[in-house]
Amino acid sequence: ASGGGLVAYADSAGENASSEPSQEAPRKKKVVVLGTGWAGTSFLKDLDCSKYEVKVISPRNYFAFTPLLPSVTCGTVEARSIVEPIRKMLEKKRKDVTFYEAECFKIDASKKAVHCRSAVGTNFDGNGDFMVDYDYLVVALGATVNTFNTPGVMENCYFLKEVEDAQKIRRNVIDCFEKASLPNISEEEKRKILHFVIIGGGPTGVEFAAEMHDFLVEDLVKLYPAIQDFVKITIIQSGEHILNMFDQRIATFAEIKFQRDGIEVNTGFRVVKVSDDLITMKSKSLGEVSVPYGMAVWSAGVGTRPVIMDFMQQIGQTNRRVLATNEWLRVHECDSIYAIGDCASITQRKIMDDISTVFKMADKDNSGTLTLKEINDVIEDICIRYPQVELYMKSMHMLDIRDLIKDAIGDSHKESMVVDIEEFKKALSHVDSQVKSVPATAQVAFISICKRSLARVNILRFLKLCQVAAQQGHYLAECFNKMDQCKEHPEGPLRMTGTGSGRHNFRPFRYKHLGQFAPLGGEQAAAELPGDWVSMGHSTQWLWYSVYASKQVSWRTRMLVVSDWTRRFIFGRDSSR
Ligand code: FAD
Ligand code: MG
Ligand code: MG
Ligand code: MG
Ligand code: MG
Repeated sequence: ASGGGLVAYADSAGENASSEPSQEAPRKKKVVVLGTGWAGTSFLKDLDCSKYEVKVISPRNYFAFTPLLPSVTCGTVEARSIVEPIRKMLEKKRKDVTFYEAECFKIDASKKAVHCRSAVGTNFDGNGDFMVDYDYLVVALGATVNTFNTPGVMENCYFLKEVEDAQKIRRNVIDCFEKASLPNISEEEKRKILHFVIIGGGPTGVEFAAEMHDFLVEDLVKLYPAIQDFVKITIIQSGEHILNMFDQRIATFAEIKFQRDGIEVNTGFRVVKVSDDLITMKSKSLGEVSVPYGMAVWSAGVGTRPVIMDFMQQIGQTNRRVLATNEWLRVHECDSIYAIGDCASITQRKIMDDISTVFKMADKDNSGTLTLKEINDVIEDICIRYPQVELYMKSMHMLDIRDLIKDAIGDSHKESMVVDIEEFKKALSHVDSQVKSVPATAQVAFISICKRSLARVNILRFLKLCQVAAQQGHYLAECFNKMDQCKEHPEGPLRMTGTGSGRHNFRPFRYKHLGQFAPLGGEQAAAELPGDWVSMGHSTQWLWYSVYASKQVSWRTRMLVVSDWTRRFIFGRDSSR
């Protein structure tokens, strides 16, 4: 075999399928990508497709810019403006990329193949099923909605996950208004039909509520003056606050703004049942309450796709919601399968599990003890591999590794600090307590300079990659592009500086948290940027416009989105269904 690590895994597969003559140039490895959402598309965009034979499988032959989906529900932006045909994106790559519009329904890790079904239904032979084999599989299937098995939700609620969902919502909103405008409808009935309920106070639910409210006050009141007083928008949230993943200031700002706008926010209520005209919810203090409604949108939970569920069963990752990967995004116990985006999560390795290896690698002179210099030489690598070390030191207000060691062994060793394995273990014994906080806080400090005074253009640049899924796709593509150079230890335990010329392995993936936005309607938005930078109000809305325009995947969609916004400013939204 030509190398170790990642490449070796694929070599063995290549030998099994040895129909090609062996003297020819080695055949390209087959990379199969499942999904064309954020993660899959950003992987494809950055992958050097001339190095691989790439097959892309997704039931939708387009990428959808999900952050603008709520705007589609009210016609602020047209559906066509936020989708980019996947074949158009792949066109630039030309050779070596094939797209199949199909749904993967089974991943067979032992045969290194995926089972797929045509998305447009059965074909002439009776069915549209086929199999695609791979050397490397990139799973980017995203997530699905989760109803928590609440009775009636599937049948009676709308969702906001796909472009089709947003279009359905748009049609139904208009339908409700037309229905309530018909003669012989009682006031009570009108109130019911025009009661729009959003279940779930996360960013999606809040954005939808804000869009609905804007649509209402800017367009519908003029078009349906007779019924405007019967309209009501309600958000039901099980937690104590809406937007509880944001900074508290943003949650409060949003709640006050919604109150002023007349959007009712019911916090502390859990929906337990949805019938065709009643939503039943429960709270600790008030017990069960039922309210009549005209339209309900469920955005309360994320669930696992059946194909991921089945795959996790196969590989023994049971009782999980998403696939577990290592820090290099490779699925645990699966040699050549990677998972990125919403369908995966990284498990950060504990340093105590590798403590002897780390000690040995640091102990260059094999003395059985580590001097301060030996530790200092590797501390950077240790912090890259185990970010919890840095986080722990920060949480304890320690400036460098010396403090950590002093803490463990006392001051006795003074200047010539030397530690043996037991003392080294003792010094690091508590750092793994920070493992849980690794993804969210990593590298926030890096852009803490991003203060109010900075030019807007800088912020835009920082925000460009604001999604975990997109960052992971980009990272994984880089790894695939450089796989040849990193044959030896693509995912070594540590890089360990000074052990040779080039880098032998990749740095583990680290998410850069670059802030988040919550449009609140009425040309206002809230933004949370790293470094405790919170911004709210009208100027933030302009920031939002520019960021979202700049984040579009192509100039075509960018133009469409901007012209939709302009059209809306001048002529208002199109209210025909
Ligand atoms: P997805 O983008 O969901 O992609 C999954 C892909 O897999 C799709 O192409 C799908 O068609 C395909 N697929 C599904 N089933 C199969 C199958 N069986 N076989 C093959 N392919 C399949 N995040 C932010 O950071 N900021 C925001 O402002 C924001 N706003 C959002 C607003 C809305 C309304 C929604 C729904 C989400 C929003 N998100 C936002 C979340 C963001 O969209 C997700 O985190 C991101 O899409 C995850 O990317 P992904 O590639 O893992 O999954
Ligand atoms: Mg994807
Ligand atoms: Mg998507
Ligand atoms: Mg998704
Ligand atoms: Mg030594």
